[in-house]
Amino acid sequence: MKKWILFGLLVLAASAVVADEDTEEPEGPVEAPVCDPEACKLPSCRCSTTQIPGGLAARDIPQLVTVTFDDAVNVINIVNYRRMLFNRRNSNGCPAGATFYVSHEYTNYQAVNELYNNGFEIALHSITHQTPQSYWANATYETLVKEFAEQKSLIAHFANIPYESIKGLRMPFLQMAGDATFKMMANHNLLYDCSWPTITQTDPGLWPYTLDYKSTQPCIVPPCPTSSIPGPWVFPLVAWSDLQNFPCSFVDACFSTPDRNDENGWYEFILTNFERHYKGNRAPFGFFVHEAFLAAYPAVSNALIRFLDMVNSLNDAFMVTSEEVIEWVKNPVTVSEYRQQSCRRYTPTVCRPTSCGPLTAEATGNVYWMQICNVCPRVYPWINNPLGQ
Ligand code: ZN
Repeated sequence: MKKWILFGLLVLAASAVVADEDTEEPEGPVEAPVCDPEACKLPSCRCSTTQIPGGLAARDIPQLVTVTFDDAVNVINIVNYRRMLFNRRNSNGCPAGATFYVSHEYTNYQAVNELYNNGFEIALHSITHQTPQSYWANATYETLVKEFAEQKSLIAHFANIPYESIKGLRMPFLQMAGDATFKMMANHNLLYDCSWPTITQTDPGLWPYTLDYKSTQPCIVPPCPTSSIPGPWVFPLVAWSDLQNFPCSFVDACFSTPDRNDENGWYEFILTNFERHYKGNRAPFGFFVHEAFLAAYPAVSNALIRFLDMVNSLNDAFMVTSEEVIEWVKNPVTVSEYRQQSCRRYTPTVCRPTSCGPLTAEATGNVYWMQICNVCPRVYPWINNPLGQ
């Protein structure tokens, strides 16, 4: 029996080598060693741990808060994004940040351009976002290149934003795809993945880390990466606790919550979860949500606005993009140093609004209209043809 397993592994290894030549995918799976903090040093390497970066004390560091929204950006949800996020400032005078994990289908790229040009971060959430979820669990390196690396070109092109400004990704359904995602990221200049929930390392919370060494993070939605893959960062989703202390990674997935029409109850609920971080090790606090949930429950939306107003009034808490969280972890500084730093910068771009359609997606036959900042594509962009040429 053992011999057959060994033989199988050898065949697998051999086919991995062949695949390498075709795709330039790095070497096949070799289990990453246990992290050695002496060898793994910032800014490019960090063990997966709840210890505060740079050996700083919790009371001395900024509490970073990152609000993220998933899925298509359209003319309806942009109204809420403007109302909740635009013209908001942190106590250091810098514009508040938020990150949008954008999926392609039905996305309005004029609205994406507007989010980018108001200082928000645009990140990847795949071209197809297709079901079943097993498509993502089994996604190969090549599939992930088509879904994410090529989505970077698609968004940069149609929203007319800088290609290099897109640095992060989130897998649909938070479904991990093992090593393949991170190998694709390492080869396509993607900085971080924000898809891996932790329900055990929440108090104190797990900080972002790299995959040079073995992760200590339990795998909730397998397969998770196991190889040593230097370069990309894991931005863990530190779970919230609902009213019965069950974990939830997304706010809209919390089961036992205050009544969704109870604004005060929700404000307290958000605050309780925030304080676990703020009064703990100050691991980044995530408010991960879908806009549709906020649109459906105005009381929750108002509670979030009140919470963000509160954060913006604190001298040691800052609402930032996910990328800024990773940048702070790479170069950790105290609150007073942080307050002296310049605000995040972006290269402003213009949008020449163009409406395109009807456009057929050749792979599915579906017909779409598309609002973009560029010249119209021939067909609806999709995987294998991200620019719709
Ligand atoms: Zn999604």
